[in-house]
Amino acid sequence: MGLFDKLFKKKNTQKAVSVAQPQIFKPKKTVEELWCEVSKQQNPCLLKDIPYPSNYPQFKFNLNPLRTQAVIESSIPCECCGKIDKYSYIAGIDHYAKKEVPEIKNLCLYCIYNGEAIKKFGGAFTDKSFIANKTASKEVTEEIMYRTPSFTTWQEKEWLSHCKMPCTYIGQVYIGDLLKMGIYKQVRTELSKTFYYRQMPMTISDIDDMLIDMVEDSSIEGHLFMCIICKKYKLSVDLD
Ligand SMILES: [Zn+2]
Ligand SMILES: [Zn+2]
Repeated sequence: MGLFDKLFKKKNTQKAVSVAQPQIFKPKKTVEELWCEVSKQQNPCLLKDIPYPSNYPQFKFNLNPLRTQAVIESSIPCECCGKIDKYSYIAGIDHYAKKEVPEIKNLCLYCIYNGEAIKKFGGAFTDKSFIANKTASKEVTEEIMYRTPSFTTWQEKEWLSHCKMPCTYIGQVYIGDLLKMGIYKQVRTELSKTFYYRQMPMTISDIDDMLIDMVEDSSIEGHLFMCIICKKYKLSVDLD
């Protein structure tokens, strides 16, 4: 079942409940009200607060891979170059187009950046079909596919775009991250536009209800992106 089928089902289920307890007008929550609820969590935020060293490869479409869940500190050698680096990319290589790709668990960021890992093992870090902007140039598309650290998802991956360009990946987030970064309202507005364009309009209250569940051990996962042109933030939601 696709993500939007699931969301639609979830939304319908919520509607069914509200028949028994009619709510004629449900106002959207203020950011303060949301933070009040979310801050009671043991781990309200997920994005790691690790600065990215300037002497490491700089990825245009993933500004700080150390903040994501796909890169960890490790002493295991890179499976491509055999060297031990402080950081290891553990999200693997996906095999698309029915091409056999070995299961790769550890890659250094250098072998991703210079394209050696994909040259050696085949596959892609992100498949072309997951890049939302189908008009992106071949150069940009291939940079994301073959030379940019990606991330793991339950359902199909979605690499968002804005201002006619693929966005840069920020990382997996909880609702707490969005509130702490002061971008909750912006993300919610962008998300409501996305649902509208996908002919699945959701009210702002519906989106609040969905995002308030985006916490530790929940069945909703959020991946945050930022437009490289206008710097607006966008969220991709994934359901277990
Ligand atoms: Zn390497
Ligand atoms: Zn933009």
